[in-house]
Amino acid sequence: MPDPTRFAGQTVIVTGAARGIGEGIATRFAADGAKVLLVDLIPEVEETAARLGQKAFTCDVTARGAGEAIAKAALAAFGRIDVLVNNAGIGGSKKLLDSDDDLIERIIDTDLSAVLRVTRAVVPHLPQPGGRIVNISSTFGLTGYPGTTAYAVAKAGIAQFTRQLSGELGPSGIRVNAVAPGVIQTPMTMAHRENPFYMRVVVDPIPLERMGEPADIAGPVAFLASEDAAFVTGVVLPVDGGYLAARHGKL
Ligand code: NDP
Repeated sequence: MPDPTRFAGQTVIVTGAARGIGEGIATRFAADGAKVLLVDLIPEVEETAARLGQKAFTCDVTARGAGEAIAKAALAAFGRIDVLVNNAGIGGSKKLLDSDDDLIERIIDTDLSAVLRVTRAVVPHLPQPGGRIVNISSTFGLTGYPGTTAYAVAKAGIAQFTRQLSGELGPSGIRVNAVAPGVIQTPMTMAHRENPFYMRVVVDPIPLERMGEPADIAGPVAFLASEDAAFVTGVVLPVDGGYLAARHGKL
């Protein structure tokens, strides 16, 4: 349950926070007492931030220098950065043989390369010890799911980036973890719900027999950023209603 003292005095950056999972994460951190900078490409981020009583920064995370600009905006707004949540991402992936150069480049750049660049720019501003990074991977990055190749490869990259960086930053006292969501009801997955193959293969076998909501991801993200997870780093936590553990488990 939200606790307004949990992140009191701390500041959190959430990318891709105008809507969907990012909005849910920003909402949870705000309810847990943090000051939040909501970053997004779309101007609606201003409304989302205003609704939460927080600050917005409109920015394309793939732009060169985006990480530096985000860090500067957070420091100007709050004077410090404690937590970075790399959530911004895009779908729209296809089978490899149906993916043109532009699609592959756009997905890998947004869902993987931009995360590395933004993180590299923000890390020097995190407290050492005490900084925390939470990345958003995907169950599609942890198991094969034909038809979303560039996306799945990027999200597998996020899982490995999380492990890699936990080793590089652990000695500085910065923890790096990831959440791998299963199917979450957001604008990104809206169209898939009309697709019978997706419903049969990805949704019907979920042991908890429902799709997730953004709040289902926000709680575990806040946990990984909290003191309760003080000895947890390098972990990629599936939050998927049991899909990876026991899909097709219904008899
Ligand atoms: P949404 O598309 O609903 O929200 C993502 C937000 O990020 C949008 O506002 C989007 O803007 C923004 N964004 C996209 N590209 C950029 C960019 N270059 N710079 C800044 N902001 C950007 O997606 P979800 O909430 O569903 O997904 C959030 C994260 O969770 C993503 O990383 C996704 O891959 C991951 N995820 C989602 C799952 C799901 O089932 N929903 C499952 C597993 C992982 P715009 O509308 O312009 O694209």
